[in-house]
Amino acid sequence: MARVTLTDVRKAYGELEVVRGISAEIADGEFVVLVGPSGCGKSTLLRMIAGLEEISGGTVAIDGQVVNDVASKDRDIAMVFQNYALYPHMTVAENMGFSLRLRGADRRSIGEAVAKAAASLDVAHLLDRYPRALSGGQRQRVAMGRAIVRNPRLFLFDEPLSNLDAKLRVQMRAELRELHQRLGVTSVYVTHDQIEAMTMADRILVLRDGRVEQQGRPLDLYDRPANTFVAGFIGSPA
Ligand code: ADP
Ligand code: MG
Repeated sequence: MARVTLTDVRKAYGELEVVRGISAEIADGEFVVLVGPSGCGKSTLLRMIAGLEEISGGTVAIDGQVVNDVASKDRDIAMVFQNYALYPHMTVAENMGFSLRLRGADRRSIGEAVAKAAASLDVAHLLDRYPRALSGGQRQRVAMGRAIVRNPRLFLFDEPLSNLDAKLRVQMRAELRELHQRLGVTSVYVTHDQIEAMTMADRILVLRDGRVEQQGRPLDLYDRPANTFVAGFIGSPA
């Protein structure tokens, strides 16, 4: 597990400030959902936590250690995007084991880690297939598998279900939440889907124009939205 501390985190692209001073504490084992309209800075914030984007101001700390200058590969995190981008020329097993191979792990330990991840995601029967022969949901599971083989402590999700059909989305919500629990990780999950936020989150951060408009447990936000923007976004009667 990992604790994430954001202190006055900022991001500017030239003149344009898109993340404008976000502070938040994400506890060990917590499932925190970032919601907000398109363009409010969700992905940018997530990429800064991941170490994929330079931070313009403030600090990101993991377990109390400032990681602003730590390369993304050394942060012990897994990131899952909506575009799974599996390697088309590699089998499922090769896709899932690739990051371990890059780190010089031996064949046997790669095989064991892949088998374990595949079993927990119900893709063990697909290990020899190529991505083109998988359904959308299967691809999403393999993308998850690729992320979990390294036993990360922190999961970062950027709208991972938005390309799936409605039925599968509902199923995957429950599966991801269960996986988070079972692996005992900390998760930060970006979505613009209110229902996803309400059903998955321990805590929701509502973002607007690069700032946190309100944060709280789903039902607290629903019952006591700070303003009509939050009410509109959470779906509560304003
Ligand atoms: P969200 O994920 O909430 O939809 P983003 O974090 O992707 O929002 O984007 C926030 C703002 O930053 C948007 O106005 C977007 O156009 C801008 N932006 C994102 N990436 C870049 C970039 N590389 N260069 C310039 N502007 C960017
Ligand atoms: Mg985004």
